[in-house]
Amino acid sequence: MADREELLTIDIVALSDFLGELEGDTGTGAALLAAYMNDFKQRNPAGTLILDAGDAFQGSLLSTAFRGRPVIELMNAIGYDAMTVGNHEWDWGVEELLEVMKPARFPLLGANICLSSGERAPWAAPYHLIERSGLRIGIVGFTTIETLQVTLKSKLKGYTICEARDIADEIFREVKNKGADIIVVLGHLPIYCSPITPDYYGELVELVREFHPYIDAAIGGHHLSPCRLNIEGVPLVQTAPKGTMLGHIRLVYDKSVNQVIQCESELIDLSSNPKGLEPDKIIDGLVRDYQTQLSGRYSEVIARTAEHWPVAYERQMAIGSCITNVMREKTGADLAFFNAYGIVAGIGPGPVRMEHVYNVLPYEGNRILVGRMRGEQIYRVIEQSLTLQKGLLQLSGLKVVYESDSTGGKTIHTIYDSRHRELKSDGWYTVAVNEFLGDGGDGYDVLAHIRWESVRADIRELLAADFRGKGSLEPGLDHPYIDRSQSWM
Ligand SMILES: [Zn+2]
Repeated sequence: MADREELLTIDIVALSDFLGELEGDTGTGAALLAAYMNDFKQRNPAGTLILDAGDAFQGSLLSTAFRGRPVIELMNAIGYDAMTVGNHEWDWGVEELLEVMKPARFPLLGANICLSSGERAPWAAPYHLIERSGLRIGIVGFTTIETLQVTLKSKLKGYTICEARDIADEIFREVKNKGADIIVVLGHLPIYCSPITPDYYGELVELVREFHPYIDAAIGGHHLSPCRLNIEGVPLVQTAPKGTMLGHIRLVYDKSVNQVIQCESELIDLSSNPKGLEPDKIIDGLVRDYQTQLSGRYSEVIARTAEHWPVAYERQMAIGSCITNVMREKTGADLAFFNAYGIVAGIGPGPVRMEHVYNVLPYEGNRILVGRMRGEQIYRVIEQSLTLQKGLLQLSGLKVVYESDSTGGKTIHTIYDSRHRELKSDGWYTVAVNEFLGDGGDGYDVLAHIRWESVRADIRELLAADFRGKGSLEPGLDHPYIDRSQSWM
């Protein structure tokens, strides 16, 4: 048994997919988050690491309106040690990301982000070595390959992302050779849970399965479900989004044998404030300052609704109908599509302000594109939507009748146009999509090959104008998807 002084405790406190949620409208807010992080640092000042697994800036109006600056100020004030590039970090383009990161007092990591020429991107360090409790800790950052599918191609121009697994061995060796006692993977890499078997999969799981002899702890992100598991003795955590949860891994390192001899992990649900901490006053002040600067245009009440309009990715949402209806109205298109995951928040009940519209649609890529599609191409898009891999495509101007089987699979029975005529495979239709989909986002390759023309209108502004015109909002649903096996036709 090692002497007490030979045992060193490292507390890794991690967050992923913060999505700019400073205020706590839908999460717990930055001030409480800061209180918990500071609490860890006070309890173990020499051995605490604060890490962010990416997608930190995009997702709320307060962050977007100030181009991520309040989030960087929050991270600096808490004293973050490193952050990994998430797919949403590309949304404003690399140049602007680097501008956002200028005041950051911590490095941006991404070992698998490369220039098209194959070299590592100069602005994303593959790893960061840091001393804690006299130990050298190597934090290795990897980002998800899914970035290539979910980011506008124009934003990724000149770059590519390779599979973390393909370069991991080389990177881990390099970090070991630099004398790292402990290696932590900070991944914007998802952990998915199989709905059928009690099994986990995804980029982080595969990475740890293959390279566990190198790894002492792994942080995941990108998939917004919290999870905590252990693979071959390596603890993995992935938190819920919007700062509602913290991941914590405690490692006990024994200097007499030069290795981690014990590990434990937990997910702390901040929404219930389990330790009863007071929100941090400095961070609260910081958020309030930015709110004051923002008030005016965005706090204007543009409509009211008596009901809550929820977000639900596996069906057509009332808000999804509103969005796709205004896209059609604006363009005169026969039909309109909008990607489900592009809708981040619901609205109501109560007054609807401009800020709510931006919280519903916080991401870039919201300009409208219009193009002509053949019926057969539309069928392929709907078929893909029904796999629910990226949620159900929100739509207007079509009625999709499908059949479900016992395994949850869905097959198209008939598609009708807005005049209730069957969609013709060889017919031509005018289609409006948001820029993200028109770029082939979420894997809709069919849409990437359409000749689109841009309509100079931002969907957020159109939606706000529509709400303003209506004044009182009813969450009416058009039910464009009809399950034939569940309803009478
Ligand atoms: Zn992500």
